[in-house]
Amino acid sequence: MTEGPHSRPADTVLSAQETTAEGLSAEEADRRLAEHGENEVVRVSERTPLDIFVAQFDSVLIWVLLAAAAISVWAGHTVDAILIAVIVVANGLFGFVQDYRAEQSLESLRDLTAPTATVRRDGSAVSVDASELVPGDVIELESGAVVPADARLLEETDLEVDEAALTGESVPVSKSPEPVDPDAPLAEHASMVYKGTNVLRGRATAVVAATGMDTEVGAIAGELAAAAETQTPLQRELDRLGRRLGFGVLALAALVVPLLLLRDTTPLQAALTAVSLGVAAVPEGLPAVVTLTLAIGVRAMADENALVRRLPAVEALGSVDVICTDKTGTLTEGQMTVSEVWVNDDVVDLDETADVATERSLDEPADASGERSLDERVGLLLRAGALCNDATTDEGDPTEQALVRAATDHGFDVQALRDRTPRTDEIPFSSESKWMATVHDDVAYVKGAPEVILSKASKIATADGTRELTPETADRVRDQVNAFADDALRVLAVGYAEDVSDADDVADNLVFGGLVGLIDPPRREVADAIAATGRAGIDVKMVTGDNVRTAAAIAETLGMGRAVMEGNDVEQLDDDELGERVESVDVFARTAPEHKVRILQALQANGHVVAMTGDGVNDAPALKNADIGVAMGERGTDVAQNASDVVLLDDNYATIERAVERGRAIFDNVWKFVAYLLSANIAEVAIVFLASLFGYLVLPAVQLLWINLLTDGLPALALGADPQSGDVMDRPPRDPDRGIVDGQMLGLIGGAGSVSTVVMLGLLFYTLDGLPAVTPYVMTMVFTAFVALEFEKLYVIRWLRETPTFSNPWLALSVAGSLLLQLAVLYTPLRQYFGTVSLGLADWGLVAVVLAVALPGYVAVVAAIKRYLPRGGSGEAS
Ligand code: ATP
Repeated sequence: MTEGPHSRPADTVLSAQETTAEGLSAEEADRRLAEHGENEVVRVSERTPLDIFVAQFDSVLIWVLLAAAAISVWAGHTVDAILIAVIVVANGLFGFVQDYRAEQSLESLRDLTAPTATVRRDGSAVSVDASELVPGDVIELESGAVVPADARLLEETDLEVDEAALTGESVPVSKSPEPVDPDAPLAEHASMVYKGTNVLRGRATAVVAATGMDTEVGAIAGELAAAAETQTPLQRELDRLGRRLGFGVLALAALVVPLLLLRDTTPLQAALTAVSLGVAAVPEGLPAVVTLTLAIGVRAMADENALVRRLPAVEALGSVDVICTDKTGTLTEGQMTVSEVWVNDDVVDLDETADVATERSLDEPADASGERSLDERVGLLLRAGALCNDATTDEGDPTEQALVRAATDHGFDVQALRDRTPRTDEIPFSSESKWMATVHDDVAYVKGAPEVILSKASKIATADGTRELTPETADRVRDQVNAFADDALRVLAVGYAEDVSDADDVADNLVFGGLVGLIDPPRREVADAIAATGRAGIDVKMVTGDNVRTAAAIAETLGMGRAVMEGNDVEQLDDDELGERVESVDVFARTAPEHKVRILQALQANGHVVAMTGDGVNDAPALKNADIGVAMGERGTDVAQNASDVVLLDDNYATIERAVERGRAIFDNVWKFVAYLLSANIAEVAIVFLASLFGYLVLPAVQLLWINLLTDGLPALALGADPQSGDVMDRPPRDPDRGIVDGQMLGLIGGAGSVSTVVMLGLLFYTLDGLPAVTPYVMTMVFTAFVALEFEKLYVIRWLRETPTFSNPWLALSVAGSLLLQLAVLYTPLRQYFGTVSLGLADWGLVAVVLAVALPGYVAVVAAIKRYLPRGGSGEAS
């Protein structure tokens, strides 16, 4: 086996890559980028445009249409056959364009959250698009990052990586820069990190050894199934519905044709009737319109800062009935400011204190008595907070930024302090351990959740020097924590240890330094958003790592309930108990990421559709398993974003609320045009079928195709853009088990379909006036009246969904346009293809009568549905 970078010492790899630990120059990086190409893995298994096109024709309904075309050719109706073929191809193209665009736009939305990489260029660390990495780049990795390229480790601290993407093993793998055996299998290359794997813990620097298709995942990219989950439950349901419709009409034709033949109808007419039935039943435009509406919705959500990463999420959003949300940065601003500190036994309001800090360090002994002034103790606290810290005043973790700002505001030059006191060892912060420690030669500084620091400390800093931390003192500390927390302050404890050699020693000698209270004000718009979600029948639960009292105080200011449960309790309860309790809890505090999964499972077991937010790498399992995983765009790690369905660009809770609202409105519009199209198709089938029983062939295939084109085309599209009805957020969430074809829709299809059928048959017999066969005039009347009726019904259906009549100018325009097209068929030479004649004024009068007669029928149907088939009422999905 050739020696790879994994088996060679780090400095040899650096020189082989003609680079140093300081990284490349920007110029050299550009040159290498031109040489090696972008650092991207091309997924070969993605759907090609051809796949998407072919998929458009994979439907029973299309086969029904093609059969109808074949029969038309046989019957000598070539025009019909050509028209059908044109419709099939046009529909295929339209569907293709929609599907393709939807896929592209999802793809481009996903790119907006494409991973970035921290890389050393020209000697300083900068953030670049991961696709711009080149071999020889020195990258910095930290917990939550997706490894951007195959790289050889130079240094690491506690680095653990999840390599499941590559090896299938989802146990965390510890890494170290030591060379490994040249023949070791990939899974044992501890000195390497590989593109596409997730950093779970710690941090590292590494030199890029391979990019793009040269990486290990590049080599297996072909096998890497790009789980293209573009079909939504709704689309699947509609597919199923289409199949049933197709088979249903085939069965009906099989019944009607022999019947007609028995009754002396000519084989030609029987065949044409079968063709009409087939064409009548097919809602040609439906799939494309659904895709288009969902795609428009996804765009609109993106404009409102919610990036949908998977199309099915759009519908699922409409059924969400519990939202579990983070607190920090989502409900609150995430902009922290140190407000007060406590050092045994004084509370100091930092806002009112200027330079409290003398930069007196631990290295300088306290005065002979061991006494430290208040200023000194506060100064020590600020110093610890600034050193046990990875942020700057405006970059990094908000809690840590606040500490840097507080130190700066009170006289520290933090950068100079850090340069003077370099870090020699550390224990990084994690949401599980809730603390961190840094070692600077022989002094360590710690900060973390007060109870964690209290449990580790054995001494406490006081005015009279360092004292034992007695249980009584610990109680006083807890009282102070509660007092801060009840004021909605976030509380952090800070401490230090002297005479330590490395991070493992910290706990042995830990002195409790004091408490820091930070303000993180609630976001202004969130209280309203929470009230709106409440009205919409959605339960909001806060899931936070923060202290119970702080969390409850914030919950209260936001108008949420304040029934709390702690992460520990979540752990103690078994599944059944948790399932019972979880319903009434508003705030889960002091939780770790694994608690999120349990809370989620308990809620889902109770039948809820749950949206859950998260940002850290450890939130990924909860995000994946949630019905809607919501990752943070600003704060979120790449791993969390990859696991999510929706990314909030602004991290804001109010954005979730708006996305839910959008999801509901989109579903409403899809409902409207599915109801509209299906009720039209059913009425067409019924009219053709019943008329044929009397020996008449009305609505030949060309006319039906035309009707479907007019109704499925522009008006259905315009319906997709209907404004949301005022009550979308005033009703309970949609039951996800109930498909789109619910009781109301069945009622509408049956009721409105019957009204149309009865009125149209009435018109047929009135215009026939005893004639034995249908004349072109009769046919034209039936054809035209049916088109007009469809547009009337369109508005009636919108009433059922509380949509104000004149609220959608596009709809009015599209109806007017479609009517013009109908006139074109009547009054231009196009006539000859449709077998129509021009209508006179009196005939239009008759059409008006038909509309007037049908209107009360439709209105009665809508009223009856509203009364007897309330939304979410009986009537299962088909
Ligand atoms: P949320 O889960 O709503 O984002 P959170 O930010 O408080 O809330 P975590 O980040 O898990 O949740 O933090 C849990 C606790 O750990 C905090 O309450 C705080 O006491 C402590 N903590 C947070 N950040 C740090 C940090 N950078 N260093 C040390 N301790 C921290």
